[in-house]
Amino acid sequence: MKKLSILGSTGSIGVSTLEIVAAHPDRFQVVALTAGSNLTLLKQQIEAFSPKVAVVLADDAAKQLREQLPGAKTEILSGVSGLITAATMPETEMVVAAIVGAAGLVPTAAAVQAGKDVALANKETLVTAGHLFMRMVADKGVKLYPVDSEHSAVFQSMEGHRSEDIEKIILTASGGPFLNTPAAMLENVTVQDALNHPNWSMGKKITIDSATMMNKGLEVIEARWLFDVPPEKIDVNIHPQSIIHSMVEYIDGCVIAQLGTPDMKAPIAYALSYPERVATGVKPLDLTALSGLTFFKPDLERFRCLGLAYRAMGDGESMPAVMNAANEIAVEAFLGGRIGFTGIARLIERTMDAHVPRNLAHIEDVLLADRWARDAAREQLGKGQVQ
Ligand code: NAD
Ligand code: MG
Repeated sequence: MKKLSILGSTGSIGVSTLEIVAAHPDRFQVVALTAGSNLTLLKQQIEAFSPKVAVVLADDAAKQLREQLPGAKTEILSGVSGLITAATMPETEMVVAAIVGAAGLVPTAAAVQAGKDVALANKETLVTAGHLFMRMVADKGVKLYPVDSEHSAVFQSMEGHRSEDIEKIILTASGGPFLNTPAAMLENVTVQDALNHPNWSMGKKITIDSATMMNKGLEVIEARWLFDVPPEKIDVNIHPQSIIHSMVEYIDGCVIAQLGTPDMKAPIAYALSYPERVATGVKPLDLTALSGLTFFKPDLERFRCLGLAYRAMGDGESMPAVMNAANEIAVEAFLGGRIGFTGIARLIERTMDAHVPRNLAHIEDVLLADRWARDAAREQLGKGQVQ
């Protein structure tokens, strides 16, 4: 029985994780659940899984939840301290890191410090604090399993192979809803258009990141740290069908890929049950029903965020954390109708232009860079110069 703490249980990844847990009660047990503000869903999850601890962000929300669950055995905590408790409980064997954004960094790092294995969905942890986090993972000797579908595909394509034999990692990208939208028209696309992802159903932030292709940029940085490969060995191919989830090319010219119906339950289940495989209910792939698999290079003019991510990775130090925080502010501003779609890349670029990269020696340095970037991006927004 593997005991799990699920951080971000009310999100898209959290809900899919609980579906896997519910399908395999003989294998997995939930000991902690955490949510931002969705009390209704968290309450249902507490009733269904009886965790020892449940966490919400705000103190008054925790109070409300306690009142709604009289006599429940679950202890309700709040805030970042609650998240850290959930991530470090003595009985927890694996932490599923499925909070969205840089908010996932502190509890995920706390889990590693406490010696917990991690199933990592929160790519922002590796984007903002890659080398620090990987050093912690190595020092503590914990296992880190990727949940992101591309990284799960690379992980699976690397099994039984030596990393020194890798020629290249090829991350695939669907290209999102604007793959065929002329660059000149991107100015006027709506929030609804951007949320309409062709292949994947995900949380709002990552859906917008997929439309700008910042998501792929974040994933390139994630792969760089997770697999310890230099940036020049990571390629991105647009593959609109999302059937090949990523590939690894070896020095002998052989390419190994992982294929499947696009459904996050498959990579989540593999991270939870590795090295075994469990039934997921994912629709089996019928290759004969596919009209074809196509691949091409991304257009960095149209997808400026992908170029910005390569630039941030090249600058290194605090720049990826700054890019990530500026992106979070920009996505929020786009979703709130304050800036247009192309304003996202403009706001990130201006924030990066204003930043002098600093060395990151501790997680606190990452948090400082993150805060600096949020303030700088909000100031730009306040000036009303980014549309
Ligand atoms: P989501 O928005 O659906 O869910 C996020 C979860 O985090 C929710 O439970 C929410 O309540 C919680 N949360 C939000 N802000 C918080 C905060 N400040 N403090 C504590 N908790 C907070 O997001 P998602 O789509 O499930 O994505 C989660 C992570 O997984 C992201 O890092 C994303 O990039 C990654 N990921 C998601 C998918 C996917 O298919 N959804 C695929 C690959 C990777
Ligand atoms: Mg992905």
